Amino acid sequence: MTPDYSPVHPAGATQEQGTLHKPGHDPDCLFCKIVAKQIPSRVVYEDEELFAFHDIHPWAPVHFLLIPKMHIPSLAQVDHETAGLMGRMMALVPKLALQEGCNPYPQGGYRLVTNTGVEGGQEVRHLHFHVMGGTRPWLRG
Ligand code: AMP
Ligand code: ZN
Repeated sequence: MTPDYSPVHPAGATQEQGTLHKPGHDPDCLFCKIVAKQIPSRVVYEDEELFAFHDIHPWAPVHFLLIPKMHIPSLAQVDHETAGLMGRMMALVPKLALQEGCNPYPQGGYRLVTNTGVEGGQEVRHLHFHVMGGTRPWLRG
């Protein structure tokens, strides 16, 4: 299915600083810049719709972030149009967790966290799944 890249900027506001921005890309967003490789990251996975990279301040031996490439600010903006994308993200988590060194279920496993909004502790306003695992103790959690 082709993703629905709903514009995040009004029509005519897609060209800034000489760069043509794709719909669904917020030029001021840290994670959109990481997707565009304007900011380097340690890439875990990439396909047409999804991107995963190591968290810069890991809380656990394995800690990576899985994000949609399109700019969705948080889980609060997910609706029926993006539900399929969320499903693909969820389905990718077990594969990437094992690939990155999480121990197998049930003795191993991992945590999946999506901070949402200020009271949810969200700092970067581009929807992301934290995937954390590995042998304990962890720094947080
Ligand atoms: P949250 O508080 O849920 O919004 O999580 C944002 C996460 O992004 C934090 O765990 C940060 O350590 C992580 N982070 C911030 N900047 C970068 C970066 N440049 N590369 C990788 N992870 C980052
Ligand atoms: Zn973004």
